[in-house]
Amino acid sequence: MPVSIECSRVSTLSRFEVIARHDISIHIQIFMLMCGIVGYIGNREVAPLLLQGLKRLEYRGYDSAGIALLNGSLSVWKQKGCVSLLEEAFSGSAAIIKDVTIGIGHTRWATHGDPSDRNAHPHVNAEGDIALIHNGIIENHAVLRLELEKQGYSFVSETDSEVLVHLIDHLWTQIPLIDFESAVREALTLVEGTYGICVLSQREPDKLIVARQGSPLVIGVGVDEYFIASDAAPLVEYTRRVIYLHDGEMAVMRQSGFRVSTIDNIEQDAVVSELDFKLEEIEKGGFDHFMLKEIFEQPVVMRDVMRGRIRLADKTVHLGGINDHLEELRSAHRMVILACGTSWHAGLIGKYLIEEFARIPVQVDYASEFRYRNPVVGPGDVVMVISQSGETADTLAAMRMAKKRGAKVMGLCNVVGSTIARETDFGLYTHAGPEIGVASTKAFTAQVVALIMLSIALGKNRTMSDPEIAGLLDELVQVPEKAARILQRNEEILRIAERYKDASNFFYLGRGLSFPVALEGALKLKEISYIHAEGYPAAEMKHGPIALIDKELPVIFIAAQESSYKKVLSNIEEVRCRKGRVIAIATEGDREISRLAEQVIYIPHVSPPLLPLLTVIPLQLLAYHIANLRGHNVDRPRNLAKSVTVE
Ligand code: GLU
Repeated sequence: MPVSIECSRVSTLSRFEVIARHDISIHIQIFMLMCGIVGYIGNREVAPLLLQGLKRLEYRGYDSAGIALLNGSLSVWKQKGCVSLLEEAFSGSAAIIKDVTIGIGHTRWATHGDPSDRNAHPHVNAEGDIALIHNGIIENHAVLRLELEKQGYSFVSETDSEVLVHLIDHLWTQIPLIDFESAVREALTLVEGTYGICVLSQREPDKLIVARQGSPLVIGVGVDEYFIASDAAPLVEYTRRVIYLHDGEMAVMRQSGFRVSTIDNIEQDAVVSELDFKLEEIEKGGFDHFMLKEIFEQPVVMRDVMRGRIRLADKTVHLGGINDHLEELRSAHRMVILACGTSWHAGLIGKYLIEEFARIPVQVDYASEFRYRNPVVGPGDVVMVISQSGETADTLAAMRMAKKRGAKVMGLCNVVGSTIARETDFGLYTHAGPEIGVASTKAFTAQVVALIMLSIALGKNRTMSDPEIAGLLDELVQVPEKAARILQRNEEILRIAERYKDASNFFYLGRGLSFPVALEGALKLKEISYIHAEGYPAAEMKHGPIALIDKELPVIFIAAQESSYKKVLSNIEEVRCRKGRVIAIATEGDREISRLAEQVIYIPHVSPPLLPLLTVIPLQLLAYHIANLRGHNVDRPRNLAKSVTVE
């Protein structure tokens, strides 16, 4: 029986208020990484409402869009490209389906299968009487697809999501006396991964079914009507009363009421919150800027990069995109990593790790330099190109040049179906979700997680023993939790930013794996605060830059405990006796460092190969706060573009 709204408890504290207080556990719980879902059941004409709702979700980034309307039968419009193109395509049919009042809409950020018309959502079953939209990743899609194909199902898309609609169809037809709700429930017990789904069917046309595991879903509660969306942005113009579905919950909505239960069918109390936030605040998830939101998303992103790729049961790494190429990689004469900007810093970390774990020589080059000289590259080399967008012009040109000269080319990108992803021989996606802030943060940590996994996969049966791999993987899966602990130091880092915000130069120093992190810290500061900053190898400082040090210069040392820790302490002494102002990133429990540094930002202990994932976070926050305190537009810094598609 549906539970009517009167039965629900009304909370006085909305979730967004909680977010405003930067409660990290809530942040992690409600972050979205993938794209947009909208749905509606009620009395209004649904098509314009869905299209408008999708526009409200555009800020999240997407590559294709689609809607399904239920009017006796199901009608679907979907295509690659933006919502206004979909609107145009739909406009011819608008008059025919004027009175339809139930439907679903989706903006897709591809994770499995290129952005294309047929991979766009909604997906439908063969009879065309069930339509489904999905945000997230179904990890066991390959096994389910095989099973369903054996049962005679054929797939029209390359997405992981399509298995869901066939699975629901299959269970609904196979299990006697089962209804729509139970078919969805049964299907969800068989899937692994993350999902926010919204499904409707012509067979039971009075319902909208939603479920959530890892991807957010909000239900907007109106009078005899319900709105569904991945965040409250599309709902606020209709209702301010919302229910946030929790992980492992599903809801069935009819015009007359709704029922929330767990996937195992235990009825749940639905808490209705009153939203008192502006649209802009909702889009940024309660944060002041997308960049800050993306910094706080990192624990979730790190988990997403590892999702389905680390098998703790047998302590192995499975990187679908490169599994068939492992031997080729292992027997390469050398690897060449080509990238620009932040991705280049990730590449440098990749070099240290691959050389350490797999003993393959790695050269890291700026794509823009590589392409304009006559580099020695050819058959026997594997060239890995790293680019968040997969469209970086210099990286793309360098990749094409290497390919032409006979090297195998491999990509590490965030955007599925991007040019680099399409033109490389094989590669890996980072699955960091859309990054909106121009200064890259979560895409960087996602690249580093991917490179750690890659170096372990390459090191296996080479120089890394099984116990060594097991130990590192056990630690790697704990890193997101440790990253979340660093985010709790946000206020502390803000205080440090207040103290140094007027400096005109900054120096960032580190050794080993902390050197690329020093470069990245300095780049973040330059990009958004417009303060001159230099990253340098700590020991190299004495060969020149030490001349810069005086009592005005803040010097940030990445001084976590690893093999060169004692040497870094000596470098700190060198700066101190020249009156430089030392800020240190150090390991929790390190007392010695507090004697030497004016400020210390502590990070939890991790093994050295994993350190960059933690040490970079305080540097991102420091850059963010300094830029913000100086009054700059943090999300859109001057002179910079998100995806550098010009050389
Ligand atoms: N994994 C699904 C796909 O690639 C959904 C992506 C999304 O969340 O937009 O189609």
